[in-house]
Amino acid sequence: MTAQMDEKIIPIYQEVLARNPGEVEFHQAVREVLESLGPVLTKHPEFAHYKIIERICEPERQIIFRVPWVDHQGKVQINRGFRVEFNSALGPYKGGLRFHPSVYLGIIKFLGFEQIFKNSLTGLPIGGGKGGSDFDPKGKTDGEVMRFCQSFMTELYRHIGEHTDVPAGDIGVGGREIGFMFGQYKRITNRWEAGVLTGKGLNWGGSLVRTEATGYGAAYFVDEMLKVRGESFDGKTCVVSGSGNVAIYTIEKIHQLGGKVVACSDSSGYIYDEKGIDLELVQQLKEIERRRIEAYVDYRKHAKYITKGNIWEVPCQVAMPSATQNEINGKDAALLVKNGCIAVGEGANMPTTPEGVKIFLDAKIAYGPGKAANAGGVATSALEMQQNAVRDSWDFEETEARLHKIMKNVHRDCFEMAEKYGAPGNYVIGANIAGFIKVARAMLAMGVV
Ligand code: NDP
Repeated sequence: MTAQMDEKIIPIYQEVLARNPGEVEFHQAVREVLESLGPVLTKHPEFAHYKIIERICEPERQIIFRVPWVDHQGKVQINRGFRVEFNSALGPYKGGLRFHPSVYLGIIKFLGFEQIFKNSLTGLPIGGGKGGSDFDPKGKTDGEVMRFCQSFMTELYRHIGEHTDVPAGDIGVGGREIGFMFGQYKRITNRWEAGVLTGKGLNWGGSLVRTEATGYGAAYFVDEMLKVRGESFDGKTCVVSGSGNVAIYTIEKIHQLGGKVVACSDSSGYIYDEKGIDLELVQQLKEIERRRIEAYVDYRKHAKYITKGNIWEVPCQVAMPSATQNEINGKDAALLVKNGCIAVGEGANMPTTPEGVKIFLDAKIAYGPGKAANAGGVATSALEMQQNAVRDSWDFEETEARLHKIMKNVHRDCFEMAEKYGAPGNYVIGANIAGFIKVARAMLAMGVV
């Protein structure tokens, strides 16, 4: 637990539990935010009067649909598709699509809920939503992935649009999948509508830096947290879990900022390279050849691959979980602290369990929760929307400079809000309150809708 829940808020949380049975990840995400909001209600009784928290916890719209498709053997397959349009007070629903066999409504709702506050923290006009499917892209041919994406979009297209809901990528959804979905949207609607999806290819409406944005942004956020403590990445040993989009560009930026990443992973195990991870090799294996991280040791004989190993046992000063939810438990957090970790920046969404978060906060290390630290991805998606709206494209340096500024501002807002509410250095409280207040004010202004 990050804090005690205020007694005014306990009944609201109990109602969330009763109305959303079995959705444990959603409960966890709601609880973490609600535990921060007691002092806000004391200061702003109007939020309680107009039931802002109760309304924020209830998605504006939830769409669940069948996704039938034909595999390469000619067999019919059926998956389930989701889009949860959580909150549109600040702008059109915005948030990624996740394709992973673990996906069910509770995962999409936890991600959509977090997205509301994250998007608010970016300072850009975007609401919160999330979607996906229990489809597993692993081991599928390009043709199968294309047919799945086309079937998925054949339902989704009627719910989205540049002023309504703008999906993007997440786990299992990268440039290839966004391309297939954009193609199907265009075909069904007969509209070349760039602003309907983000993460597009660079020659058809995409933005430079979008691919790198979440990882770069997370490293920038940690850099800011380190600066507050008179530290920097320079010479620090770092561990980054995962080896997907977020992990790869987190590693790249850490290396640019002078740190050394010695381990990364996938769901089968982790690699340890004391000389520093060779990122070009990882990119070749993961982005081009779509192989497992294990193959790294075929090329770098001095490195080690630990099957099913726990990456958090590798001693480091900075840890950046960038794979999936609840990947750091209480024991892992304690081990990290014991081994000298001074900063944790979450590239992934909710990668640390409540027990782990408590250990980081009690140890007073710099802990940057995902909704703040990984906001760079969606922020750059919003920059992609801006460029689409004015039919322009900015160069890499300009776009990266904007991302950097946004991350500095997110850090500053969280830092200052934590101080204002009597919890200096606590970015969980800072992020939750700063993200919440903007949405709450907008909802209040718009009446009971
Ligand atoms: P990718 O699909 O590109 O990569 C995911 C990585 O995490 C892979 O290495 C994958 O390994 C590993 N992983 C996934 N599920 C598990 C699991 N259950 N156990 C262990 N490892 C796992 O996804 P992204 O890099 O885009 O996303 C990573 C995280 O960052 C997610 O939490 C996502 O929500 C979050 N995020 C992503 C953003 C983006 O812009 N892409 C924006 C903000 C947050 P394997 O291949 O073995 O499955």
